[in-house]
Amino acid sequence: MTPVQPIQQAQLPPSFYGLSRDQLASHLVTHGLPTFRAQQLFSWVYQKHERHPLAMTDLPLSFRGRLEELCDLRLPPAEAVLATPDSATHKFVLELAGGARVECVSMRTTRRLTFCLSSQVGCALGCAFCATGLMGLKRNLAASEIVGQVVAMGDFHRWQDERFNIVFMGMGEPLANYKALMDAIRILRDERGLNMGARRITVSTSGLVPQIRKLAGEGLQLGLALSLHATTDELRDRLVPVNRRWPLRELMAAAREYGERSGRRVTLEYTLLAGVNDRPEDAARLADMARALPSKINLIPYNPVPGLEWKRPDHRAVEAFAHRLMPRAPAVTVRRTLGGEIWAACGQLGGLGA
Ligand code: SF4
Repeated sequence: MTPVQPIQQAQLPPSFYGLSRDQLASHLVTHGLPTFRAQQLFSWVYQKHERHPLAMTDLPLSFRGRLEELCDLRLPPAEAVLATPDSATHKFVLELAGGARVECVSMRTTRRLTFCLSSQVGCALGCAFCATGLMGLKRNLAASEIVGQVVAMGDFHRWQDERFNIVFMGMGEPLANYKALMDAIRILRDERGLNMGARRITVSTSGLVPQIRKLAGEGLQLGLALSLHATTDELRDRLVPVNRRWPLRELMAAAREYGERSGRRVTLEYTLLAGVNDRPEDAARLADMARALPSKINLIPYNPVPGLEWKRPDHRAVEAFAHRLMPRAPAVTVRRTLGGEIWAACGQLGGLGA
């Protein structure tokens, strides 16, 4: 009897957006192609923003004809793009392989365009005020899906802005998906690609202390933002449960180490919740914490999430809190709320309104 042969699954080509230039070169070499083709492809895709093989006129026709079988240049399709009435903020709902969806946001102010990226579908950390946390963790994103968000949003804005900033403040805890995060950052920083300076990229964390230390050891001048939100362990245990594992003393020591090694001021993100963490004594402790390391404070008036108990303090309470900080803290800003109308503001990502 002839043995049953296993069905051979067709090998899918790797996504272009998940490969560094060196990885792409090695991949092409295994297909008998010279390494410099990787540089040419990076330039076409990331610098000339062209993905159609027919348009890549300085590449031999034989190579262009094989491109689709060598790597996948498709981006995750946008299931929806929602815009605020002033068109300053857009929320993108992207469809990923396997049916998952991820959200990312572009925000334009008079000074700059910023892309807010997601690193996971959902999040395991369950911060008490966050819509993404309510979803739980569905899965990590691959580096290609992180870089894909940038290219999809850049395409949407027709790459009009030569310089834009990136913040990892979307869905998920970026440092819980460390390898994909760093792989994506390496690709985004490639001088033959998008050539993003590390100073234009900010990683936000809820406080994974070992990974903050690891990031400090990368020798990059990435911005680091700490989702602080409370000045006592008692309150932070409630608001940001990962604090039970790495309490404030350990977190602030790691943040100080990061600031000193990177030469960057660490941003202390502080979501103001009415009657919870906006009292004068909170301001006094926050100012003291900020003075203990190279830092700046970013106050975020809470963005409501349906079903959650928290309330946003009124304008006067926000101003009063900021004024209490100002004489004592090194630098204080109050974040303008962008995108609240389309559930695209901080803490609101997670399918609501999508
Ligand atoms: S705030 Fe960030 S870390 Fe916390 S649950 Fe939301 S996405 Fe996760």
